[in-house]
Amino acid sequence: MPAKKTVAQKVVYASSATAKAAKKAAPRKASATKVDLDPQRIQKILKRLRAAHPDVVCALHHNNAWELTVATILSAQCTDVRVNMVTPGLFRRFPTPKSFAEAPIEAIEEEIRSTGFYRNKARSIQGAARRLITEFGGKVPQTMEELLTLPGVARKTANVVLGSWFGIAVGVVVDTHVLRLSNRLGLTKNTTPEKVEQDLMRILPQNRWIQFSHELIHHGRQACVARKPRCADCTLETLCHAKDKTWNSH
Ligand code: SF4
Repeated sequence: MPAKKTVAQKVVYASSATAKAAKKAAPRKASATKVDLDPQRIQKILKRLRAAHPDVVCALHHNNAWELTVATILSAQCTDVRVNMVTPGLFRRFPTPKSFAEAPIEAIEEEIRSTGFYRNKARSIQGAARRLITEFGGKVPQTMEELLTLPGVARKTANVVLGSWFGIAVGVVVDTHVLRLSNRLGLTKNTTPEKVEQDLMRILPQNRWIQFSHELIHHGRQACVARKPRCADCTLETLCHAKDKTWNSH
């Protein structure tokens, strides 16, 4: 029998990560950046991001849709670098969804312990593996609706898998970087991933949904870091209303 997904299992660390990220990214009231949806400005932002980060891809190492699903589940509240250190050994020990489904849960926990929240993550991964086998013939499904039925998979993970592996754009990946930069760039005034995603889907052309996230995540790591962003060296400086903020207070 597949492990029945519980609400608690699905949201316990996702909600914690989301709340923390939203709190971090939320502009302080006194210095909130104004929303500016001028189409020409948005086009310029898209153009400069693409030029600055050409061909950027998902930073999580993977060889197939299942590995990307697992890696993305592991990336909640954890750096991609750490996940990439853990997944080679994990996939050597458990090379298929079947091997995850049949493994003692403690064995999975042992492999992923250093990514944090390892008990919940192990349950999610095993639950997702079992559901893949019983409901989807062992293959990762290719629709948002189906992906969301997998334990541990919320919209962000589903968007990562659909976009980065299948090339299907049905949403925008909103992680902590996309959340922070979308606010700083005045593309949204919302602070929850769900609402920011809806805003981005409204203002961006669909053929840029997948790559825009990759570019913004990369830009958030390289220039527009959480504390003291490097505005003077930023390619978006002349288009960004947040550039004059006193970042020392963040
Ligand atoms: S100008 Fe500064 S705040 Fe604006 S996107 Fe660039 S680094 Fe971020």
